[in-house]
Amino acid sequence: MTKVRLKGIGMTSQRTRNRLVERLAGGGIRDQFVLEAMRETPRHIFVDEALASRAYEDTALPIGFGQTLSQPYIVARMTEALLRDGPLRRVLEIGTGSGYQAAILARLVPEVYTVERIGSLSRKARRRFRELGLGNIRLRHCDGKMGWPEQAPFDGIIATAAPHQIPQSLLEQLGLQGRLIIPVGREGIQKLLLITRTSEAFEQEILEPVSFVPMLAGDS
Ligand code: SAH
Repeated sequence: MTKVRLKGIGMTSQRTRNRLVERLAGGGIRDQFVLEAMRETPRHIFVDEALASRAYEDTALPIGFGQTLSQPYIVARMTEALLRDGPLRRVLEIGTGSGYQAAILARLVPEVYTVERIGSLSRKARRRFRELGLGNIRLRHCDGKMGWPEQAPFDGIIATAAPHQIPQSLLEQLGLQGRLIIPVGREGIQKLLLITRTSEAFEQEILEPVSFVPMLAGDS
């Protein structure tokens, strides 16, 4: 009896997580801190129970309201790109969703801020952070196109929903040398961009083609 139960827990636990991390490393994720954060963070907590057994496949999963938790590879890739040039202190995420990306960031960055326009998703994410004892994440239910001006400037901003154009307010809320990782464009033709604020300009690098849910206006 006990054995069966332990095996059941194992299915959504460390062994499957290790396998996912091996796959990410094999797929080109090099940052050991990012890989470690993904090894330590239980992804099955961030989806409904019915999907828990699929939580360690390298695939996007539905989280309700037509939204999705990104594929682990994309989470790893964006986090790696954000931290590529050294550690950051304060990071803002646009699109809390399930809270998984924020939970990964919380293991790598001292202060994480995350905003979500759907109140119910934001409340669920708050409960998950509490359950995991992640005390360094602050959430806000609002339209993330505006960023979080009261907490700016940020060393990094990561958007997990795609606007058609980069919102000016997000650029303004980057500190000097701050980095913005953001998917931009219409569905089917989005590009993941890395913008760095220098003293003279905003430098842009195109990382890769991606497919994100749209960044919508307003909250609900
Ligand atoms: N980072 C999330 C991915 C969620 S999908 C995770 O790890 O699960 C993208 C999220 O962005 C959705 O929850 C969607 O509601 C939210 N979103 C879309 N437009 C937004 C906006 N303008 N402001 C804040 N959140 C937004």
